[in-house]
Amino acid sequence: MPYLPELAALEKIIAQAGSQIRTQQHGSVAHCGQQFPLYSLCLGSTDPDAPSIGFFAGVHGLERIGSQILIAFLQGLLQRLSWDRSLQFQLQTIRMVFMPIINPIGMALHRRANGNGVDLMRNAPIDADGKTAFLVGGHRHGTHLPWFRGHANTEMEVENQALCAVVNEQLLSSPVSLALDCHSGFGLRDRIWFPYAYTQQPMPHLAEIHALKQLFDRSHPHHPYVIEPQAKHYRTHGDVWDYLHRQQAANKLFLPLTLELGSWLWIKKNPRQLLSILGLFHPMVPHRQQRVLRSHLPLLEFLIRATHDHASWRPTAIARLTQHHAAIELWYRKDRP
Ligand SMILES: [Zn+2]
Repeated sequence: MPYLPELAALEKIIAQAGSQIRTQQHGSVAHCGQQFPLYSLCLGSTDPDAPSIGFFAGVHGLERIGSQILIAFLQGLLQRLSWDRSLQFQLQTIRMVFMPIINPIGMALHRRANGNGVDLMRNAPIDADGKTAFLVGGHRHGTHLPWFRGHANTEMEVENQALCAVVNEQLLSSPVSLALDCHSGFGLRDRIWFPYAYTQQPMPHLAEIHALKQLFDRSHPHHPYVIEPQAKHYRTHGDVWDYLHRQQAANKLFLPLTLELGSWLWIKKNPRQLLSILGLFHPMVPHRQQRVLRSHLPLLEFLIRATHDHASWRPTAIARLTQHHAAIELWYRKDRP
């Protein structure tokens, strides 16, 4: 039986939190007779109109550091609920949603894909509008190759159906919502990607993304992140965040972000990690793992505050045009490297 310590830690949080956290189970997935539940945890306002923020991780089973970051953050939140009045104040007006283990079978089996061999971040019903990277962009050849999208004309995998249900119920109903999906494995730098992955065309909320970046740059001047559109690196089929972003109503704002932790940095400092498949995506030295667990907490806190105080930074009228043009200049001008 594969054992999943992250799931045990999450179930401990659920048990300890009692009624302070609203836990929902969105079905389960099975492997060798063992059931793995798909949980979401909600805190704060139940008003559909409340600004809301969602934190997601564990889409790719090898990238378990993302789940661990969210579980550590949840453990801290749970402790703070009893004494931190600023947190209690925030939760009166906003909603926080957590889904830290989206692909439990992949995590338990130490592999990227889910139990059916499908890459969940290539599995949404959306096609790239141009040439995609070979295999990496998603394909339908079968489960024997990584980045398999699933067979044509089939429903999304159960894990993605659960993810979409949570986003639809808890985030897309809000006039303003943000999401952060935590991954690892790409490059030397920590990156924050925004849509789209399926096209190099700018997304409609470029002004808001640029305003949020500007706010973050000014509030955390030495932050380590490169913030950029995902398609700058590679175009893919089936990105769930592209799909969900396109579901939002015209009068609402939903900004899904992907945190891509630069795991090559951990490998550079500890080349023995190359010997382990898990080591390509996860810091194996304990002190480095602890550093990664704590060093992203300011980003999570920032996003919560930005959700709570969205009226302070969301551009309107002329400011929106200015932000849009600045964003085009920064990310989409053709002659930029
Ligand atoms: Zn990933």
